[in-house]
Formats: sequence, C-alpha cells, structure tokens
Amino acid sequence: MKIIDLRSDTVTRPTPGMLKAMMCAEVGDDVWGDDPTVNRLCAVIAERTGKEAALFLPTGTQSNLAGIMAHCERGDEYIVGQMAHTYRWEGGGAAVLGSVVPQPLEQEADGTIPLAKISTAIKPHGAGLGAHFARSRLLALENTWSGKVLPAAYVAETTAFAKSKGLSTHLDGARAFNAAVGSGVSIGDICNPFDSVSLCMSKGLGAPAGALLVGDKAFIERAYRWRKVLGGGMRQSGFIAAACLYALDHQVERLAEDHENAKTLADGLAKIDDVKVTAQATNMLFLELPEAHAKPLEAFLKSRNMLIQGVYNARLVTHHDVSREDVNRFVSAVAEYFSGTRS
Ligand SMILES: *Cc1c(COP(=O)(O)O)cnc(C)c1O
Repeated sequence: MKIIDLRSDTVTRPTPGMLKAMMCAEVGDDVWGDDPTVNRLCAVIAERTGKEAALFLPTGTQSNLAGIMAHCERGDEYIVGQMAHTYRWEGGGAAVLGSVVPQPLEQEADGTIPLAKISTAIKPHGAGLGAHFARSRLLALENTWSGKVLPAAYVAETTAFAKSKGLSTHLDGARAFNAAVGSGVSIGDICNPFDSVSLCMSKGLGAPAGALLVGDKAFIERAYRWRKVLGGGMRQSGFIAAACLYALDHQVERLAEDHENAKTLADGLAKIDDVKVTAQATNMLFLELPEAHAKPLEAFLKSRNMLIQGVYNARLVTHHDVSREDVNRFVSAVAEYFSGTRS
C-alpha cells in the first residue's frame, strides 16, 4: 500500500522521466569544470533567476553557508531571523565554520524582521567606537517562510534599506519556486531584490539532491572556492544536475497542485472538531492537536501508512508524491481516529 508521507517535501522520489534524464546525462568531472550537464544547469538557473552566475552544490545548507562565507569575512556579522533556517537549523555553520557572527532578530508571524529592528542592529564601523563591534555585512531573509510568501513590498523596502547601509543581501530561497508559483510571479521577480539566492532542488521540485547558489560572477567565484573547502566539490555530478534540469523543465508549474492540495487538506481537517489548523500557505499547513492525542494519532496514521511529524504543533507538507486522493484519504483517517475517541 502506498505511503502517504506528509512530513516534508524532501521525501519525493525521482519520477520515471527524471530517472531517464539521469541515465542519459552527459557527464564529466565538475571539479575540473568539465561536466557539461552541470554547466548547462548553472547557465539555465542563472538565466531564469536573472543573475550573472550560478554554482551547483550538494545541499541547501552548504549553499547558504558558502554564500554567507562569500559575502562575509572573519569577524563580520550577518543579520538574520531568530527562526531562520540559516541561523537555527544549520548547526550554526556560519559561526562554526565561517567565523561569521550571527545577529539574530525576532521575526513577526509572517517571517518578516521589522525594518526598525534591522536598523538598530546595524553596528557603527570605522575607527574609534566602530572597533568594538563585529562588522555588519549581510542581511539574510528566507522565502517562503513556513510556507508563507514574504510580502514583495517588504522585500523591496528591506533590501533597498540594507543596500543603503552598505550591507549585501542573501535570500535563503530553499522554496523560492513555491513563492513564485504561490504569488503568480516569476522566479526572477523573487530573486531580483537580492545579491545572492540559494535554491533547493530536492524539496518541492523533486530532485534527489542538489542546490544552486546564484549571484554575480565575483561572488560565485568566491563561493566556488568555499564549496571546495567545505567538501562540496563533486565529480560526475551531472547525473544529479540532469535530475535538476528535468525538475526545472517539468516540475515547477505543478507546484500549484501542491498548494491546492495543502488548501484542500487544511479545509478538510478544519472540519474535524478536535483539530485546529493554525496556518496554511503554499504547500504547508500547521495543526494544533489536543496534546494527549498527538502521539496516538501519529501511531494510528502510521498503521495506515500515513506519516506526519510526531510533534504537538504538527507541520504537514504536500508535494509531488501526494495526490488529491491521498489528501482525501488522510482527512478521512484523521476523522476516523477522532470519531473512535468519542465512542
Ligand atoms: C531545507 C532547507 C534548507 C537547506 O536544507 P538542505 O537539507 O541542506 O538541503 C535551507 N533553508 C530552508 C528554509 C530549508 O527549508
């Protein structure tokens, strides 16, 4: 029986078309710059995002880290959301491996960091007083944020402000394609305000691995060196790049289906008395369950081959391998569980 896995959009398997593209990939040694498929992928993504150059890396974590290290030197700081992936969910890599000081700031519920907070966090620099501080060098934002698309006006205002203060800007765009499809704009529009963007190919887009970092040529040259230092120089990675190219050609527009499925899932679950849907945007929704039911519900669903993150504040994520029928079956199973608890 099919497993309905709503834990994350990272769980997708390559489709037959994607596997065929991988099998047929023309490859070379990418550390030597010889892999034609990797080179094509980088050219395609640079063009689509409107940037000069691109770098292919194994993971989004490494892509963000190489990006931060290409923007910042030892003793520089980057301003970032308290709950942002690059700060909270990447092992503190910027500090641990980059000697870059994070300056995390509390975010609003929509993921934005208020401009006033950013403004007061930027430290004086130069001789005298400035010598006391880490040098504010970079602002990093994230889009989508918990599935929510950052408001375009906020992004425009904040990145312009950062630039006026001499800061570079980086977007953790792990799900930037969801942001583009979810708000009906191009990926170029999402990336345009930022100096650099990191994009994950192994989430909603469905490739088995891979991330892309985009920015201007000088930035990508610095990041290229850091990728090697971080152990991310891969050899015949064209096999993976072929999957990413396939995903870019065939699995971007269909993200809209994931967003519709997440909406259907939220609407269906909201009708169940014991379940509270606290948020839904693009391919994600968040639930609040009566605490006593969180674990038993997870076990009940598991017995039906349905997987959710076993936490009180559950996050459900739709993706390529979750169909409308799966969504309906999942809602029925949750309803069945709760009707059983009342009889
Ligand atoms: C998944 C993710 C990343 C990078 O994750 P990897 O698993 O290293 O590819 C970065 N930022 C956000 C917001 C993510 O969701």
